[in-house]
Amino acid sequence: MSLLVVGTVAYDAIETPFGKTDKILGGAATYISLAASYFTKNINLVSVVGGDFDKKYLEILKKHHVNTDGIQIKENEKTFFWAGKYHIDMNTRDTLDTQLNVLADFNPIVPDNMRNPDFLMLGNLMPSLQMKVLNQMKERPKLVVLDTMNFWIEVAIEDLLKVISRVDVLTINDEEARLLSNEYSLVKAAQKILDLGPKYLIIKKGEHGALLFNKEQVFFAPALPLEEVFDPTGAGDSFAGGFIGYLAQTKDISFENLKRAIIFGSATASFCVEKFGTERLIGLSQEEVDERVQEFINLVQFDISLVD
Ligand code: AMP
Repeated sequence: MSLLVVGTVAYDAIETPFGKTDKILGGAATYISLAASYFTKNINLVSVVGGDFDKKYLEILKKHHVNTDGIQIKENEKTFFWAGKYHIDMNTRDTLDTQLNVLADFNPIVPDNMRNPDFLMLGNLMPSLQMKVLNQMKERPKLVVLDTMNFWIEVAIEDLLKVISRVDVLTINDEEARLLSNEYSLVKAAQKILDLGPKYLIIKKGEHGALLFNKEQVFFAPALPLEEVFDPTGAGDSFAGGFIGYLAQTKDISFENLKRAIIFGSATASFCVEKFGTERLIGLSQEEVDERVQEFINLVQFDISLVD
């Protein structure tokens, strides 16, 4: 089944307690596509980069079965740039710099042959642009997933609410869920956010796992207890990529399968944090992915028989 991914393809500069990087490959759509590539081979990416973007990164994406024809290259402009610094606990970070550059006047034109995807992943991007992409679909995709972040909740709430009302699944982290709903309790926050339109809400809680809500049910998946988290950048996007990639592979959008997809998303995210940037997500083997998923199964499996 085909998957269309839209979002940033970026240069990031990251600082963690373990070290610091210069400009490295980043961007929400990059992480999503790499993560999804372990589950589905039919991935189209729509984004924009500047003339400073190293073409070797496009080759890496292509090796991961990602069709990059939908990435516009603006030769005279600069690629979107984000810089962030993690605190010692690795759960919180400060954005040091966001330079929209090429994103500032980006008009996302989805190539005609990409306008009929089965699955649509609206990765982190200006909400008005996410909406423009959604409006170009020839038919409504089987499932539309939207990711966003505090930045857009703060600067573009009107546009964000419009696009939220049209998607099936919203993925945000706990801090963003609280910001969006004005509720501290995540259960209350979830109910308020589901009232905005999406059928499902996923609240990511970093090293504390993720929650999947619909109006009646809730499911929890832990994060793998890792000895060392090196760099959490892109964990949320890798989670979303593994999640939608697995759904595209299995073609089943029931709540039960969404639960499984969350485990696959968590497994992919657990790789991402083991090295800087996208490094660990590039060139994983199927065995490594399978083993990691098995670790998750072992982590949560238990047997209880309740007796009267
Ligand atoms: P995550 O750690 O999952 O929140 O994603 C980090 C990625 O998001 C980085 O690679 C950044 O390039 C990208 N990013 C940071 N800020 C923004 C923004 N305002 N809009 C879109 N993408 C962003």
